[in-house]
Amino acid sequence: RGHSAARSPEAALDEALALALALPGIDVTGGLVVRLPKAQPGLLFGTGKVAELKTRIEEDEIELVLVDGPVTPVQQRNLEKEWGVKLLDRTGLILEIFADRARTREGVLQVELAALSYQRTRLVRAWTHLERQRGGLGFVGGPGETQIEADRRAIDTQMVRLRRQLEKVVKTRELHRAARRRVPYPIVALVGYTNAGKSTLFNTLTGAEVMAKDMLFATLDPTMRAVTLPGGLAVILSDTVGFISDLPTQLVAAFRATLEEVLEADLILHVRDIAHPETEAQAEDVAAILRDLGVGQDVVTLEVWNKIDLLAPDDAQITVADRREDVIAVSALNGTGMDRLVEAVGRALGDERRVETVTID
Ligand code: GDP
Repeated sequence: RGHSAARSPEAALDEALALALALPGIDVTGGLVVRLPKAQPGLLFGTGKVAELKTRIEEDEIELVLVDGPVTPVQQRNLEKEWGVKLLDRTGLILEIFADRARTREGVLQVELAALSYQRTRLVRAWTHLERQRGGLGFVGGPGETQIEADRRAIDTQMVRLRRQLEKVVKTRELHRAARRRVPYPIVALVGYTNAGKSTLFNTLTGAEVMAKDMLFATLDPTMRAVTLPGGLAVILSDTVGFISDLPTQLVAAFRATLEEVLEADLILHVRDIAHPETEAQAEDVAAILRDLGVGQDVVTLEVWNKIDLLAPDDAQITVADRREDVIAVSALNGTGMDRLVEAVGRALGDERRVETVTID
């Protein structure tokens, strides 16, 4: 697909694969860059490519095809029939991930709203296409339009209702937040772009110690784990939904709402792919959104500069990381820096508790 100029198709594919992996229950067999000089209205790809992909789909017994770009409803229907698979486009996939990750009432409502708005645009596109098939023009007011209009009105009514519910939820949010906070351990939230290495870090930290199993709140849900860090500190690690480059605008609100759980964190670990060419821009995005969400200064944020194994030993960023107290350079993949990270987490949470005690006194 046509990504922002700075990114190669391979980098975009890596991100798309990481996105697909964020959906539980999916076994990703592989990814493929397909050159698409011109999207075909009926089948998206040219007929030769469709046949070639069909062979591969059958050989690998693929059941779900993800296209990292927009696919019209007509293309989707045709390809699903042609290949005997279920097909999701980029927005469809991201919506599925958000729906899976939404924890708060606000998150669930925002995702439903985004899904409806997605469906609504697809009605229009499906209709435009039908109109063209029938020779265009002259069908205004015909049966197709009436049906589309009716569908659209039904969606609009539902969206109005959801928006009203949402307003109420946002008003009582503060009250609910206190009630939701039932866990006895400090919550450490991992945030960062998709592909930054959050899951790898999550696994390295949780896999490091076996104590997790014995703990009372061993698994709260798949993205929250109680762990005893080396050194004995018990925390809840929460893996939030990752930031995504080129997020479709209609999904922005849903994304923010699914990220709302970071408001409950005692400590935020902002995981960065420090070897990524756009790492600075990504970090600014993350900081801006956390600010907008209302993450206050009472929540300590540490930056985890991940993937240092990909940097040259004399890279300037390593010197910068060494100097900054809020930065820990690590490789989640090979374990470099994990001890320093665990230490920093302990220190940050310890400091926070001391502050809390002072306040209570
Ligand atoms: P997430 O989307 O933030 O959860 O990222 P993942 O944990 O899925 O990691 C994305 C990709 O980066 C995977 O291919 C990982 O193997 C790779 N990765 C994660 N951490 C490191 C690291 O420290 N060094 C290197 N070289 N690769 C890493």
